[in-house]
Amino acid sequence: MFWYDAASFTPMADPITMTARGLVAGNHPRIPFIEGDGIGPDIWRAARAVLDAAVAKAYAGRRAVAWEQVYAGEQAFRDTGEWLPAATEQAFRDRLVGIKGPLATPVGGGIRSLNVALRQRLDLYVCLRPVRWFPGVPSPVRHPELVDMVVFRENTEDVYAGYELAAGTDGAVRLADFLGREYGWRIGPDTGIGIKPVSRAASERLVRAALRWAIDHGRRSVTLVHKGNIQKYTEGAFRQWGYDLARREFGDRVTCLDGAADADAAAAAATATDGSRLVVKDAIADSVFQQLLTRPEEYDVLATTNLNGDYLSDALAAQVGGIGIAPGANINYVTGHAVFEATHGTAPKYAGKDMANPCSLILSGAMMLDYLGWPEAARLVEEAVARTIGERFVTYDFARAMEGAVQASTSAFGERVAGNLG
Ligand code: NAD
Repeated sequence: MFWYDAASFTPMADPITMTARGLVAGNHPRIPFIEGDGIGPDIWRAARAVLDAAVAKAYAGRRAVAWEQVYAGEQAFRDTGEWLPAATEQAFRDRLVGIKGPLATPVGGGIRSLNVALRQRLDLYVCLRPVRWFPGVPSPVRHPELVDMVVFRENTEDVYAGYELAAGTDGAVRLADFLGREYGWRIGPDTGIGIKPVSRAASERLVRAALRWAIDHGRRSVTLVHKGNIQKYTEGAFRQWGYDLARREFGDRVTCLDGAADADAAAAAATATDGSRLVVKDAIADSVFQQLLTRPEEYDVLATTNLNGDYLSDALAAQVGGIGIAPGANINYVTGHAVFEATHGTAPKYAGKDMANPCSLILSGAMMLDYLGWPEAARLVEEAVARTIGERFVTYDFARAMEGAVQASTSAFGERVAGNLG
């Protein structure tokens, strides 16, 4: 229940603030949301109703979100001529925490990707993707229940920095020429060139966030995933900086399995089973892709560079039922800025048909409730989603692969989840 401002009739809300002890959300945080394009409005309606009902139930009406609609994507472009209006970026900046549906990528626009633009402008350096299986969800693997992982993907650099020159352009030819003269690198004039920056600062803050989260949540291990055998000074450096940071900042809480110290490894073997210390290990990206399929129980929290993380999180999502159910968030743990989002695209074929699966956005909303410090509401949402899927009441994407399932519309699924709360 809100008090209303007498002059503007807008609900009175608490500002979310970042303090030395973490985020303080108050009982009525104002949270901007972007419905999104394509299926966005359908899945947002369902998600919002579930989130509001869960908060009301968990806190007996003492808490509520004051939603504030902001615009980006096709709708914003139609109305304002801008894909990402300054007011929208400002709202996410001012309010700290926000949530969004999928956005169409502008074709021929000045922005390459709205999602990448938001991540870069707000310096949301962690892409957080928890991956777990809900019983009943169709999966291509025999033991999806063994997948319970959390991917921390570096979100600001690597090949996503956008430092690319097209083959044959003046810039590419001049750079190739310089590299030839300076380093003897042979790059022909028909070659496109991309630069992959991986810095110590960005690697450290990503690994720090993963280690803190793993310790706070009582997880068993953090695996640094890299391609350091080939890309020694980017991916290999990420691995080394990760281990160095783990020892320097978390030395009394972790055991590093990098083979640098045999004593460390022996201690790890002794402590790995009692769960008192977090194990920090590393693995080469290509072998991780194999082992996530063959030995998923050996992986827990994964910390990785940007491109590896992109591939890994979608591959893992496929193991537990696909992108319709995988939630995600982009977070800066220092400033507190966070944008929670559906991880799939706009699925234009299903736009406005009330058919799409709203689970990704609903579960991203649950992650947001956790982040606000409202875990009771977050657990209610997750349990209600699990219960509804367990009843085989699911949207078309799951229904076609589930025996005995009832195919529900987006709105009917949302209503059933809300009804299953608690
Ligand atoms: P997509 O995720 O929209 O669709 C891929 C497939 O998954 C399609 O078959 C689609 O029908 C299905 N699908 C996706 N979400 C679903 C859901 N919730 N329920 C049921 N089925 C679902 O990917 P795409 O077709 O490559 O991209 C379409 C648009 O979305 C493009 O403009 C792209 O740039 C954009 N996109 C946005 C985001 C984002 O905003 N985070 C992510 C990916 C793609």
